[in-house]
Amino acid sequence: MAKKIVADLQAAGQQVIDLTIGEPDIATPAHIIDGALDAMRAGDTHYTASAGQPALRRAIAETVQREKGLPCGPDNIVVGCGAKQLIYEAFAATLNPGDEVIIPAPYWVSYPDIATLHGGSPVIVACGPDVGFKLTAAMLEAAITPRTRWLVLNSPNNPTGAVYSRQELSELAEVLHRHPHVWVMTDEIYEHLCYDGARAPSLVEVAPLLFERALIINGTSKAYAMTGWRIGYAAGPKPLIDVIVKMIGQSTTCASSVGQAAALVALTGDQTCVSEAKAMYQARRDRMLEILSDAPGLDPYSPSGAFYIYVGVSALLGRTSPGGKRIETDLDFSLYLLEEARVAVLDGGAYGLSPYLRLSFAASPDAVEAGSRAIVTACRALV
Ligand code: PLP
Repeated sequence: MAKKIVADLQAAGQQVIDLTIGEPDIATPAHIIDGALDAMRAGDTHYTASAGQPALRRAIAETVQREKGLPCGPDNIVVGCGAKQLIYEAFAATLNPGDEVIIPAPYWVSYPDIATLHGGSPVIVACGPDVGFKLTAAMLEAAITPRTRWLVLNSPNNPTGAVYSRQELSELAEVLHRHPHVWVMTDEIYEHLCYDGARAPSLVEVAPLLFERALIINGTSKAYAMTGWRIGYAAGPKPLIDVIVKMIGQSTTCASSVGQAAALVALTGDQTCVSEAKAMYQARRDRMLEILSDAPGLDPYSPSGAFYIYVGVSALLGRTSPGGKRIETDLDFSLYLLEEARVAVLDGGAYGLSPYLRLSFAASPDAVEAGSRAIVTACRALV
């Protein structure tokens, strides 16, 4: 809803500071673009294998092996049109009507929708600030039933930026070892965007035995500012990968050859662009948190990864805006910010856990600065 109102306001010539964005505001690094141009000129403009170009699959397998210590070869890898396609095809390939998919909330909005689209039943487990917005072993144990097909884990998390520690992951793994019918999808798309020197370990690297029933989801969209190139990948056991490849063969045929060439350069080339992006986002995060600390009633959760701040607003519910609107929910709060402060943010309800707002610091530094200040002013104006 907020995105539609933003578009309408902008079409009407109104200035809106957009803190809803879920992608880097920076351009794809030049050496990656050059690699794509070289590939195009060399005639790399045809269909590829549905699983992806062999060189790219090899490079991804080597990365997974090196970084996570997993016995991963090219046969364990499939390349898709973004991480999203791989989540979609994995659920399409494995879910039967009524199969349950455990999704800790708050969650990236697409998991429950894609599961539902394929007949699955999302089992949403609310993970509040008391557990650092992370699923605990006890919560997982309580959510598992004989119908559970998948657990979806997303670390670093969208929308909270929470990162699971090795200890937390090994506790979850212990539960999963007791329930061999449960598969686990680990969405690691923000893996390289961790702050304060932190690293986001993978559940499967902590518990390698789970690799035989795990699907690691990753891609180039976020760390390499390549959202529009649409390249993602999945790593998992060969039988599951083979089925996903079959699905891709009858849906998109393959990911773009040019995008795959660019992804190969991204993954195998100079990684300075990733550390620079990380430093840039960390500075924006720190600035946003600093400004928001002046807002009466806001409770921002400092993220360890990704590029969002999840902000609690419970202390401000029940207040009234200068325009006379009573704010009962986080959605009301986001509409107040949009209509009266001209700042667009997303409400926690959209992510399955209220009352919160999600603020993106992937927006430009000017937008981060002006948007955060406008939010502080708007909080002070509530009566
Ligand atoms: N997973 C999460 C947690 C995301 O936030 C997103 C994009 O917002 C994706 C997956 C999709 O990424 P891609 O652009 O590779 O499809």
